[in-house]
Amino acid sequence: MAPSATSNGHSNGTSKLSWDSFHNTIDGKPDNAKSSRHGINPATEENSSTVPVASQEDVDRAMVAAKKAFKTWSAVPYAERQKAVRAFADALEAEKEGFAKLLTKEQGKPIMFAQMEIDAAVSWLRGAASHDLPEERFEDDEKILLVRYTPLGVAVGIVPWNFPILLACGKIGMSLVTGNPIIIKPSPFTPAGGLKLVELGQQFFPPGVLQGLSGDDNLGIWLVEHETPAKISFTGSTATGKKVMASASKTLKRVTLELGGKDPAIILDDVNIEEVAAKIATYAFLNSGQICIAIKRIYVHEKIIDEFRDAMVRYTKTLKLGEGNEEGVFLGPIQNKMQYDRVQGFFDDAKKEKMNIAVGGVNPSGKGYYITPTIVDRPAEDSRLVLEEPFGPIVPLLSFSTDDEAIEKANNTHYGLGGSIWSSNLERANKLAMKIEAGTVWVNTHTDLDPRVPFGGHKHSGMGAENGTAGLKSYCNSQTLFLKK
Ligand code: NAD
Repeated sequence: MAPSATSNGHSNGTSKLSWDSFHNTIDGKPDNAKSSRHGINPATEENSSTVPVASQEDVDRAMVAAKKAFKTWSAVPYAERQKAVRAFADALEAEKEGFAKLLTKEQGKPIMFAQMEIDAAVSWLRGAASHDLPEERFEDDEKILLVRYTPLGVAVGIVPWNFPILLACGKIGMSLVTGNPIIIKPSPFTPAGGLKLVELGQQFFPPGVLQGLSGDDNLGIWLVEHETPAKISFTGSTATGKKVMASASKTLKRVTLELGGKDPAIILDDVNIEEVAAKIATYAFLNSGQICIAIKRIYVHEKIIDEFRDAMVRYTKTLKLGEGNEEGVFLGPIQNKMQYDRVQGFFDDAKKEKMNIAVGGVNPSGKGYYITPTIVDRPAEDSRLVLEEPFGPIVPLLSFSTDDEAIEKANNTHYGLGGSIWSSNLERANKLAMKIEAGTVWVNTHTDLDPRVPFGGHKHSGMGAENGTAGLKSYCNSQTLFLKK
């Protein structure tokens, strides 16, 4: 008989988790590394939770446990693995408030958006558990052909700091339902949430199936270079993604890379200006611009650009910047000092290059990594602000005169993560949407994701996809069976 998943449920009552201690999880047990460190609360610059710093020996132990767990977990029937992932999703939902508060403290995002991140994480886990990966079958007079999808082995999930819970859950769900134990490595900037998530998961998965290791800048390298994993699922910057791919190539690990973006939004001349301007500002400044698929270039038809700019400015002025627990805050602080300095560099450029600031431009001084939402009106098309990803709330407003010009400008980038077309004519918009070189293209919205469909980048925005059937297959080998009659 195949071994079974642990699915002993989770009560909906008070939290069973402690929110002031955090540990690695190795082989189903809490594991305290020899040394520790702490993150920084970006709103106050004070120390946040103390977390372990995993050593290479800790990595070795986790790999041994994962390898052992692979033998049994891969033999658990698919439906039972789905059931365990669903039970984990229910438990995360029951612990939503605790996770959201922790997220606001360590990541900085306003509590409302932290709660939305947990909701999305729950739905991604359930999404992963709702897809089947059936055998494919072909038959002719001479033979039967079967294609089946078998788990790869041990997976490693490397997670960035902008959506630490959601992105970890995306990897956990896909990896575990397909039969691959996974080791989650949260970002050193947001380690506590990822560790707590893995701790919560121990109730639903046998030892070694879901493990969590937090560490310093060496940890990602050790995990990727280790001989045991068969798969690395990496979400982060394009620069680091290239390093991950290079080091994974030495052992021919499968890689999925979800990388940076420079999403264009193209606003045609037939839109409702006031309404669309508010939405564009929202999708540019949500999560303080720290979203891979935030709008990072705004292309507006030259006939309406002045009116559109003024409407965006009016709306942007209503967006409140502040500490994530304050009522009505839309933009929390930038998550960390390194990122804050990087975004400040774009403000320095704006000053040096005498760019036209439509709104924002001046940042508050004092404690916390706060940056005012800023729109730059028609900077040079070869400026860093138009070409690179600030990953913060500063965005260029640009113009075009024909549909062809808009598409050409939108595609003039190494990135290809997302893009959107805004128009009251759906047919015209859809035709243009298909010309955007990006993994996800929206019409009259942006940043919406759905676990049923693949998410991935074209060009330097990534390799492979997460979510949907494509996401599940990325954790599997395909095996073809020829049955000769
Ligand atoms: P990052 O590349 O600096 O770090 C991402 C993760 O990789 C962290 O956990 C980090 O510790 C780890 N890491 C760093 N060096 C490593 C190495 N050599 N080997 C293995 N792991 C290593 O990215 P970040 O600053 O945390 O996140 C921001 C970036 O992520 C932005 O570019 C953003 O667009 C991108 N992002 C992409 C997506 C997507 O789905 N495409 C989603 C969110 C963020």
